[in-house]
Order: sequence, then structure tokens, then C-alpha cells
Amino acid sequence: MRVLHSLIQTGQFFHQKGWVPATGGNFSAKLADNRLLITASGWHKGELDETAFLECDFHGHVLTQGKPSYETGLHTALYRWQPALGAVLHTHSVANTVLSRRLEAIVLKGYELLKILPHIRTHDVEVVIPIFENDQDIARLAATVDAYLRQHDNPAYVIRGHGLYAWGDSVAQCRHRVEALEFLFECHLHEVAA
Ligand SMILES: [Zn+2]
Repeated sequence: MRVLHSLIQTGQFFHQKGWVPATGGNFSAKLADNRLLITASGWHKGELDETAFLECDFHGHVLTQGKPSYETGLHTALYRWQPALGAVLHTHSVANTVLSRRLEAIVLKGYELLKILPHIRTHDVEVVIPIFENDQDIARLAATVDAYLRQHDNPAYVIRGHGLYAWGDSVAQCRHRVEALEFLFECHLHEVAA
């Protein structure tokens, strides 16, 4: 399955970058018939194999064997919001963790790489990545995020002291967005700390 191998490669790449320490992070991608392929609970993302995934529907009902990740509900809420999404990737990097503990929102301004994000054609723009309070009640957190996204056309969000959620039409596009955002977060972290 091509999507499955793209997610395995994504895990190895993100692990090399230090964005998914221990068993942190979760990845999902849409299959045919609105089924989702999502990483099962407890896997190191640099060591994923074909057995590290399960399938569920847009409401998180598990359709195959496996223990779903605690954060499955944050993925499924995004696919219910935009059923055309192809992938959702979640990282726990140093930059997104530290920035989210220091700031009310991450405001990215004037960077060339912002052009990787949807609908952006110039560096001369300001992109606000919202930060939501972390919450172990995933249904409540998903509802808070969903209410925000229905008012704002955002490319990603961050959970405070926790990590980044980004989405895209495909695993490859979503991976590029995560890579761009993590680069921009690192730049921003240097500036904030300067
Ligand atoms: Zn997480």
C-alpha cells in the first residue's frame, strides 16, 4: 500500500529530525471509502512497520485490529471538518514545544518558506498558527479546535507544551508543510530567544 509506506518513510524522516521523540507523534492518511489509516498506540515513529497501523472511520470507530492512539479524535475531527484531506501529521519538536510554552500564538511574518503553505504567494504576509491549551480530554480539545477552524482558514495548529498538527491533500504535501513549519518554528525560536 503506497500510503502506508509513505507514512513509514515519514516516521523515519521525522525521527531523524528529532520531531517525534520516544513514542510521540501520530500520523494518518485517507484510504478509499473514507477509511483512515492511522498509527496505532505506543509505536516509536522511527520504527514503524506494516503492523503499526490500524484503520478507522471519520468518527474513530476501529475497523481493523489494533489499539488506537489516544489522539485519534484530533485526527478524525480534521477529516470531518475537511473530508477532502489526504493526510494529517502530528509532531513533538523542541521548537514547537518551547514556542507554545512562551507565546499566545506563533506569528510567522516575512519568511520565504511561508509560500509552501496553502494560498500564500509572497513572503510579505503574516501567518498566525494558533496555540490551544493542552487537554487530556481529547473530545473537548477536538471540539475547541474544530470551532476555531470553522472561523479561520488555518494551515496548522499547535497544542501548548505538546506539539504541531498539520494537514494536506496527500502525505507528501503534508510532510512538506510540516518540514516548512518546523523550519520556521526553529527560526522563530532563535528570534524569540535572541
Ligand atoms: Zn501528541
